[in-house]
Amino acid sequence: MSNELLHQIDRLIQKRPMYSEALSVYRDIVIFLNEIEPEVKYVMKDDVISEIKVKEGFPLFSREDLPLDLKAASSLFMRLLEHLSSKKRKDKEALEKALSKAQDHHDWLTNLIAAFLSRDEERVSSIAKEVDLEPMVLKFLTHIALKPSLNKLKTSAGKKINKNAWNYGYCPLCGSYPDMAYLGDQGKRFLHCELCGYEWHYPRLQCPFCKNDQPKKLGYFVSEEEEGFRVDFCKKCRRYIKTLDMRVIEQPAPLELENLITLHLDMLAHEQGFKADESS
Ligand SMILES: [Zn+2]
Ligand SMILES: [Zn+2]
Repeated sequence: MSNELLHQIDRLIQKRPMYSEALSVYRDIVIFLNEIEPEVKYVMKDDVISEIKVKEGFPLFSREDLPLDLKAASSLFMRLLEHLSSKKRKDKEALEKALSKAQDHHDWLTNLIAAFLSRDEERVSSIAKEVDLEPMVLKFLTHIALKPSLNKLKTSAGKKINKNAWNYGYCPLCGSYPDMAYLGDQGKRFLHCELCGYEWHYPRLQCPFCKNDQPKKLGYFVSEEEEGFRVDFCKKCRRYIKTLDMRVIEQPAPLELENLITLHLDMLAHEQGFKADESS
């Protein structure tokens, strides 16, 4: 973990005191990411095949069969639970329960990771219920535990992707939808994958979720508190995406972090009847 990230988190804690609790937890656990050196092995079909896949809109991998190091993820998951359950938290007991479940029943964790990757909300909820933990917390920890593998995969397989040939609203690497977007130089829009963090270009006047490109059915509202933050929405599928205008924002943080500290924008979007994904 680079000191740079920790420095960014500290800066954001000052800037957004209302998120200091969430940020402190994040700061506390990202330190562990460095301790894991996952092995990510996969055989890349030859370039011609991946080129064709891209042309036909197939991501390189699907979420269910991403070549991730599940052993590394499991041990990181347990480290995180160990650490968090040693803290004074409201869900301390539930975290302890989850830890002993993960230690004693290997299947429980394997099952959780599979449910998380296949976006099976019902299964995640029932797994969370077994240990009285909030499904959100469990999903967050599973995601963090998979991060070292995902980062490694993003760096290695990401290079194989021909960014210019990809014009879909889902991630060319893992097929997930974006959780954030940003406007870069000359106002070009990029989407950020909610799972693996890969970023790709996507037309500004088109909904990534339903491809709607009728200007009348697209819109956005801006954050009143801070310049450069906005929410783009689609009136056709009622989905939205938080967008950062990097041309305006001074010192933008990595999008994972910005996502965490812009929950007030999610709330505004929900109030207006928009949703982040199909399930909400
Ligand atoms: Zn992805
Ligand atoms: Zn749409």
